[in-house]
Amino acid sequence: MIDTKALVADAKPAVFWSDQPGAPVTAPPLVGDDRADLAIIGAGFTGLWAALQAKEDDPGREIVVIEAEEAGFGASTRNGGFCEASLTHGLDNGLSHWPNDLRTLLDMGDRNLTDLLATLERFDIDARAERTGQISFATEEWQVEHLRENVEIAIGYGLDATFLDETEARAEVDSPTYLAGAYDKDGAVMVDPAQLVWGLQRACESLGVRFHDHSRVRAIEPRATELIVATQDGRVVVDRVIVATNAWAEPEREMRRYIIPIYDHVLMTEPLSAEQMASIGWHGRQGLADSGNQFHYYRLTTDNRILWGGYDANYYKGNGMGPKYEELTGSHETIAGHFFETFPQLEGLGFSHRWAGPIGTTSKFAATFGTRHDARLAWAAGYTGLGVGASRWGARVALDLIDGKSTERTDLAMVRKKPMPFPPEPLRNMVVQFTRGQIEAADRNGGRPGPWLKLLERFGVGFDS
Ligand SMILES: Cc1cc2nc3c(=O)[nH]c(=O)nc-3n(C[C@H](O)[C@H](O)[C@H](O)COP(=O)(O)OP(=O)(O)OC[C@H]3O[C@@H](n4cnc5c(N)ncnc54)[C@H](O)[C@@H]3O)c2cc1C
Repeated sequence: MIDTKALVADAKPAVFWSDQPGAPVTAPPLVGDDRADLAIIGAGFTGLWAALQAKEDDPGREIVVIEAEEAGFGASTRNGGFCEASLTHGLDNGLSHWPNDLRTLLDMGDRNLTDLLATLERFDIDARAERTGQISFATEEWQVEHLRENVEIAIGYGLDATFLDETEARAEVDSPTYLAGAYDKDGAVMVDPAQLVWGLQRACESLGVRFHDHSRVRAIEPRATELIVATQDGRVVVDRVIVATNAWAEPEREMRRYIIPIYDHVLMTEPLSAEQMASIGWHGRQGLADSGNQFHYYRLTTDNRILWGGYDANYYKGNGMGPKYEELTGSHETIAGHFFETFPQLEGLGFSHRWAGPIGTTSKFAATFGTRHDARLAWAAGYTGLGVGASRWGARVALDLIDGKSTERTDLAMVRKKPMPFPPEPLRNMVVQFTRGQIEAADRNGGRPGPWLKLLERFGVGFDS
């Protein structure tokens, strides 16, 4: 019997990706008065991509990025590093919410990924990118047909997808739990997210973007044609603002109606030896996931560790966030047990790091947008578990909105219409916890949703990480 509690206790409570040298020097806090054309609140991927694209479009634009902690503090350095083409949290989700726009969204997602990779080349950002594709595995009988159907739909949309039977699946990666697989050969690139954040920050700085760390924005107030962005010790007068605070959903109160923070837990193993690698195959180094409603995602690092995350999606009353929530639930121990069920041949392998991070989710699991002050302010957030690539596109939408441009992006129903809001507390917590329980029950019941999940489906809403 593997002592998962002891293994988790031995892991360093730190984010593996940012626990390496190479972070840019911490920027000075905002103190006193300043002036700029555009203020961006939050230095995660959305904020950094907004700054970089705005500066590349118009090098003369004065841009300031104001971050409560340090660049990448939020989800952007804590994620799995699956940088996917999908803008809609997967094909399935896109098809159920925006069927009429799906073709356009797929094309935009493809272009976004291509342009993202081209930007890395242009600015010499080594995000350790590996275009491996990804495989979803069925680990329960009911998931096999679901994967087969998904592959057929993907092929119908011209995607490079292949159904793998049990033997083919296990030839790619050897786990006794695999019954089938769906291989998406082209739509996913594995990246080191901290290197991506740091590289983007350096690229922005090289173009003259100014950064302020440890400067939480408390308020954004209009004054004639300008907006005043205030922190505890300073303020910036600007023409335009982009709010890129994702799961924090602040300081714009409206965001809190649509975005809730969900904590996802992650483990990183020690590097695998050559024999351990040989025991699991995985020569294609693809990003992997299983395909229950509660699912794990996992991938290799450049030094052959396995990142293993997901499954539990924890919401805390009142949009609870912060370090005290990151170790509350026993989720690390739960997923450590699942790791050795998936790879029993790796018994003896330890975990080097454990962490958790806040996922900003909406009731449609994909980005949503809002504006205020005659669209001089825009916000973009809520990518759920698929924002590494989509945040570049989300930032582009926010730029269109503050610049008053009508584009193929702003025409999309996904941009024009908001998802159903979450109810206020205390109902919010009750609904989310009840829905979580129903999702667990559906997984135990052959994937069949009960009446509550069916009702939510009818209204086109749900809960996911
Ligand atoms: C554990 C985990 C695993 C994930 N795995 C993947 C994956 O493999 N692939 C994928 O595509 N997506 C994944 N995601 C989602 C992805 O990481 C996010 O969608 C993406 O990073 C969102 O970027 P962002 O810039 O919008 O938000 P964040 O990176 O969260 O940035 C928001 C920033 O705003 C700052 N901020 C908050 N309030 C204020 C304020 N008042 N003033 C100033 N600054 C403020 C925060 O400090 C933070 O730095 C994962 C997320 C998590 C948590």
